Amino acid sequence: MNKLNALWLYHEAVCELDKLEMGVRSTPSRLKLNKLHAFLTEQQSQLTSIQKQLDTKEAVVERLTAKVNELEKACELEASEFEVIQNDEESTAAELTEARSSIEKVLKEVAETRRELFDAIAWIEKAVTEYREMGSKASRAKKEYDVLRAECEKEQEEAKPAIAAAREKADKLKKDVEAVLLEKYTFIKTRHAVPMAKVANNQCGGCNMSLPTSVVKRVASGDGIVECENCGRILYTE
Ligand SMILES: [Zn+2]
Repeated sequence: MNKLNALWLYHEAVCELDKLEMGVRSTPSRLKLNKLHAFLTEQQSQLTSIQKQLDTKEAVVERLTAKVNELEKACELEASEFEVIQNDEESTAAELTEARSSIEKVLKEVAETRRELFDAIAWIEKAVTEYREMGSKASRAKKEYDVLRAECEKEQEEAKPAIAAAREKADKLKKDVEAVLLEKYTFIKTRHAVPMAKVANNQCGGCNMSLPTSVVKRVASGDGIVECENCGRILYTE
């Protein structure tokens, strides 16, 4: 058996192992699980964001409520002052006008602050509804997620023996491969999922590029590593 034959056999075993492992990672259940996981993560971050905004808004409500109370007290004070001025025979018309406009100013501020407060409360009510709806949607998705995860774990468990056998086979064949070849193969595999290609019709089986006759001959000799000039895969011919 020449050097490249051993590498090819190892390569085939590695491809088989990759295929089995990839198969488990891409079953319909697993793909659905991945999608659901992304959905749940997104929901969670949205829920956290709404919660933060709610906290901020609740602080605003608290501040505005205190302000309304203060302004109402100020309003009462202004009203009693106005009464004093009104009942004082020595008060001038100008003083009365000033006191009245002072009350009006405070009343206007009360109205504005109240409006702000109601807006903030309405915002909170809407956000709470949204939060609840999102939360119940997320909890339904979580249930579905748990079922799917159990299915995926079952699939994984079922695939284990075949994967273990394929790994054992690859490990065994690896021992027959020359260290230099193995190193090269492992390096190329970091760039190509399938790092070795057969030569067919004077073409690289990996990228279909036509190969010069000299290259095809060198590959056929089976002596050393010949890489495809185009894609860099290790070429092999039986
Ligand atoms: Zn190629």
